[in-house]
Amino acid sequence: MERTFPTSSALSDAYYAGCREGKLLLQYCSDCQQPQFYPRILCSHCGGRELAWREASGKGHIATFTVVRQPVSPAYEAPYVVALIDLEEGPRMMSHIVNCDPEAVRVGQPVQVSFENWSETLTMPVFQLQG
Ligand SMILES: [Zn+2]
Repeated sequence: MERTFPTSSALSDAYYAGCREGKLLLQYCSDCQQPQFYPRILCSHCGGRELAWREASGKGHIATFTVVRQPVSPAYEAPYVVALIDLEEGPRMMSHIVNCDPEAVRVGQPVQVSFENWSETLTMPVFQLQG
């Protein structure tokens, strides 16, 4: 049984190419300068069409999380932590908190991105607790 993989598109391909290089990429609008995540063809703030990729710091805080104890498939080893991360740059993203005791995870904790190879072609951003 395999994990669920994202579908391929021009936008997601650029994003995951960054992940394979160890870079968490955000789109920045050339009109209003705001970052956004997930990748879109338009700026979610002003509707601008000129978007450029920039590497994020990879730092953020846990906005909320859940401990998954019944995995969706045997490909996921439970328990694991799924969290919403508020990135330092502003956007919020969903990811996993790895290399931690799930019972030790708290809202507000600082986290740092790292990357896991889920297959030969897919590298996923995950987060680790800081401090
Ligand atoms: Zn904009």
